[in-house]
Amino acid sequence: MVAVILWVAWPWLQPQLERAIYAARLAARPAPTALPVPVQGVAARALRDTWHGARSGGRKHEGIDIFAPRGRQVLSATEGIVSRVGTNSLGGKVVWVMGPGRQMHYYAHLDGYAAIRAGDIVAPGTVLGYVGTTGNARGTPPHLHYGIYAAGGAINPYPLLKAPAAAGAPRR
Ligand SMILES: [Zn+2]
Repeated sequence: MVAVILWVAWPWLQPQLERAIYAARLAARPAPTALPVPVQGVAARALRDTWHGARSGGRKHEGIDIFAPRGRQVLSATEGIVSRVGTNSLGGKVVWVMGPGRQMHYYAHLDGYAAIRAGDIVAPGTVLGYVGTTGNARGTPPHLHYGIYAAGGAINPYPLLKAPAAAGAPRR
């Protein structure tokens, strides 16, 4: 009986199992100490640290704004699992990726999404979407808002993006 259920459910079960195994391995991996800039063609030296700048409603800026022409490819900074492709009022069109060490990577103000959906496994450099001005970025120059959330809350991506990549790591 169990064998029959397994046989019938296997085409559905197998990817779920693979993803669960990958998720466990990903969570156990150390959080990255250096990251590539997640926008095609933007050099680390061009970045400005916009962490904790004042925002409306007493908020502080929980990430970095990476300016680039509209439509420029937004690339996953890490390997991981896409956890959400959707919208919210501040971020507009957003993508969340769960990366190594259970950190969540947040890509916001996208003009549109690449052909990805929740549950997809991505590599560093996988195209997630395109630079835009959706959400509260309307009327500003096109940029990617990139945030990293660890267990204790948001952390500043800027030092990670400026850090020299570890030997052998992909560099853009
Ligand atoms: Zn921002």
